[in-house]
Amino acid sequence: KGLKKSFINRNNSLFKKNKKINVLKGVDLKIKTGEVYGLVGESGCGKTTTGNIITRLLKEDSGDILYKNERINDIKNKRLKNYRKEVQMIFQDSSGSINPKKTIKWILEEPLKIHGIYDKTSNEYLNDRLEDVGLGKEHLKRYPHELSGGQRQRISILSALILNPKLIVADEPVSSLDVSIQAQILNLLKDLQSNYNLTYLFISHDLNVVSYLSDRISVMYMGKIIETGDVENIMKMPAHPYTKVLISSVPKINRKNNRIIIKGDIPKYNSDIGCDFYSRCPYAMDICKKNDPDEINLEKNHTVKCHLFGR
Ligand code: SF4
Repeated sequence: KGLKKSFINRNNSLFKKNKKINVLKGVDLKIKTGEVYGLVGESGCGKTTTGNIITRLLKEDSGDILYKNERINDIKNKRLKNYRKEVQMIFQDSSGSINPKKTIKWILEEPLKIHGIYDKTSNEYLNDRLEDVGLGKEHLKRYPHELSGGQRQRISILSALILNPKLIVADEPVSSLDVSIQAQILNLLKDLQSNYNLTYLFISHDLNVVSYLSDRISVMYMGKIIETGDVENIMKMPAHPYTKVLISSVPKINRKNNRIIIKGDIPKYNSDIGCDFYSRCPYAMDICKKNDPDEINLEKNHTVKCHLFGR
């Protein structure tokens, strides 16, 4: 609720050096047990920062994080360890997220040892779990570099599952893979969700990928959630002009070229005044420059932040 986070820019890239960048500007989202909640938006919009805060890899500047109605912002030691057992993350780059110097057996046993649940039955447990992700016990002796990209991501997924978590934050889990492997991993994630009774926060810049897996979707733009709804509503009746642009950019066979091209670039710095999409929006009005739009309920489970609605 109301998550805010800023960073100081240390290099001279898109933003001025040493300038404070407001990466999250009041993010509210509610993930229901058992659902796949998709978070979509372009690079740099704050999706990963949101995921990293939820998994406690980053600390927010302000806002509340509630897990099973308990505020977990300041939990430490044993409570934090228990929280991390239930809330795990799958990272984009499996070659960077698993230890290249250790065998797969070591990598998968480590969480069990940290949580004091490693015993003589663990070998059998690992063999069964490997089958769940489409691998076999012969992979246990191998090192990450001896596996293909798809196999490594299966190990990365398994290491997130090994402690039987409740919520998985999957941050671009397929974007570094070939398209044919992407489909396999997405189907695997779908199967695992029902077999393990999982809840996902599924983060991606790719609306096609997000819509394939998600029950509900939130669209992010420059540190804010600008539209949320059931996947069907978002894909068939997008309300926010930016969501329409995103959907029009999804390639489709047999569709006329009706892609919406927006003008301009992402603004060089974020202002807290007005709508962040103002400089690129084809429907921009005077009010959009001065006032940040409130969230409007369009219908059940569908909300939008845009001055075109609720007037
Ligand atoms: Fe466009 Fe205004 Fe809506 Fe922002 S609030 S998306 S500028 S119409």
